[in-house]
Amino acid sequence: DRLVGAVADDAEQAVEAALRPKLLDEFIGQERVREQLSLVLRAARMRGAAPDHVLLSGPPGLGKTTLSMIIAAELNAPIRITSGPAIQHAGDLAAILSSLTEGEVLFLDEIHRMSRPAEEMLYMAMEDFRVDVIVGKGPGATAIPLELPPFTLVGATTRAGLLPPPLRDRFGFTGHMEFYAPAELQRVVHRSAALLDVEIDPAGAAEIAGRSRGTPRIANRLLRRVRDYAQVEHDGVVDQRIAARALQVYEVDERGLDRLDRAVLDALLRLFGGGPVGLSTLAVAVGEEAETVEEVAEPFLVREGLLARTPRGRIATVAAWQHLGLTPPVQPLG
Ligand code: ADP
Repeated sequence: DRLVGAVADDAEQAVEAALRPKLLDEFIGQERVREQLSLVLRAARMRGAAPDHVLLSGPPGLGKTTLSMIIAAELNAPIRITSGPAIQHAGDLAAILSSLTEGEVLFLDEIHRMSRPAEEMLYMAMEDFRVDVIVGKGPGATAIPLELPPFTLVGATTRAGLLPPPLRDRFGFTGHMEFYAPAELQRVVHRSAALLDVEIDPAGAAEIAGRSRGTPRIANRLLRRVRDYAQVEHDGVVDQRIAARALQVYEVDERGLDRLDRAVLDALLRLFGGGPVGLSTLAVAVGEEAETVEEVAEPFLVREGLLARTPRGRIATVAAWQHLGLTPPVQPLG
């Protein structure tokens, strides 16, 4: 429920559906993945066969689900969507696999969170298009082999490194998704604004893009909040000033830091002179749990080069002092 959080709940996913690009050409940024994927898809179309299984890795909100839908659309194939956590038993997976039609795309989000038995069933399904369905229980149980139609698995994971090698090796192609550059996010904002019927100028879109943490999902979310503000407080048109004011109301600063991020930096700088300070001490100073500071605030601060984790504790960088408009202390000589 954080405005700058990268994960969406079900309600937001429903809103997002309208903003998803439908074809590869409409998908903004990720040049390398797009080019590679385009080759994979074109070759499969020429052969008239299902393409190799595709693994998409990268942080949430960068477009993995969207790309899986694009893959299906480009292949003119139906798509089935499920996720690792939804598949707790091998039987759950068997039921899905055995109901796939020829050429169907199966999108498996958070594939690293599947149960072990399901994962092992998936190996065989990916490689030989076959599963063993276990019928009965105990000593009388028998495995009945079941042929599957050729399908394409699109797996998504936040970290490809978390996948067991046997699973990773069964993907013919892995696309590594990167955070988006501000200019790319600006295009995402323009595109979404057009779909939402919001009038926005380039500086307004740039203002939202700069606060979106390299993540299209966050850009779309901030755009919706800015739209509310522009409607209520203004004539609905979004320019730089309106975007900046709106996001100030929602406490998202020019670099995309929210209140918690700023509280952590503020404590680190003002109370501890920029550190080093231990995580638990820092957490007490901001009135949060250590895990919240470590898992919610710090990753982005580290990514932005504002905070560093060292063996002696957390330290602020020069950029952190500058960002909060403070002067770094002069290092004592010697
Ligand atoms: P993920 O599956 O990686 O968490 P999604 O595919 O659900 O991310 O994308 C989140 C939102 O961001 C969607 O509304 C989608 O339309 C939008 N989005 C993601 N990537 C792009 C892109 N390259 N161009 C335009 N919109 C995008």
